[in-house]
Parts: sequence; C-alpha cells; structure tokens
Amino acid sequence: MRKNDFGSKKSHSEPGPGDGGKTGSWRVVRPVIDLKKCIPAKTNKMACFACWLFCPDGVVTRTIPPEIDYEYCKGCEICAEECPVDAISMIVETTLIKEEK
Ligand code: SF4
Ligand code: SF4
Repeated sequence: MRKNDFGSKKSHSEPGPGDGGKTGSWRVVRPVIDLKKCIPAKTNKMACFACWLFCPDGVVTRTIPPEIDYEYCKGCEICAEECPVDAISMIVETTLIKEEK
C-alpha cells in the first residue's frame, strides 16, 4: 500500500493527492485563502474546514490555518464556493506568475 503522507488531516485517505498525476499543472485559477477572514485562522479553533471537506482532491489540510497543496490543486473552485465567509479568492494564474517573476 502506498504511504499516505497526509494521514488523518485529510478528508480522504484513498485515493489521495497525486493519483491523477500532478493535477496542479491543469490550474488556470489559484485558490488563495484570506487568513483575516478564514474562521480557524481568525479564532484559532478547529472550526469550519468546509474547504477541507469539499475539496475533491483532498489537497487542503485540516490545520490552523488550512493550507492548499498547489502541486495537486487543479483550481476547480469548489472550496471557494463552499467557504461560508468568502475567504477564498480565485486568482488567475498568469497574474500571479507575473507577480512572482
Ligand atoms: S472554508 Fe473558508 S473559513 Fe472555512 S476553513 Fe476553509 S477558508 Fe477557512
Ligand atoms: S480549487 Fe478545487 S482542487 Fe483546489 S483546493 Fe479548492 S477544491 Fe481543492
């Protein structure tokens, strides 16, 4: 059995990130979490985690603050849709690539 590095902090044990390859290369928009709005980040409590629960690829951690593994996040926007406080913005990748250069 392949080792699952993400263990109990992920919504799915199997299949896990990477089973479909490095799906992050598909992404045209990147989810970015605003930690000033994110409930667990703001309150320091293990609350909400809708992004972790609904991410179909299991690439969001159930940690304070939640973190997204961009190697495998394919930019489907489900996390942004499900976040109850609109803490996740979808940013066009080309904008970020220009900023990162
Ligand atoms: S769904 Fe939104 S508020 Fe909830 S943990 Fe994720 S980013 Fe934070
Ligand atoms: S955009 Fe989709 S794949 Fe990426 S973290 Fe959000 S729900 Fe998961």
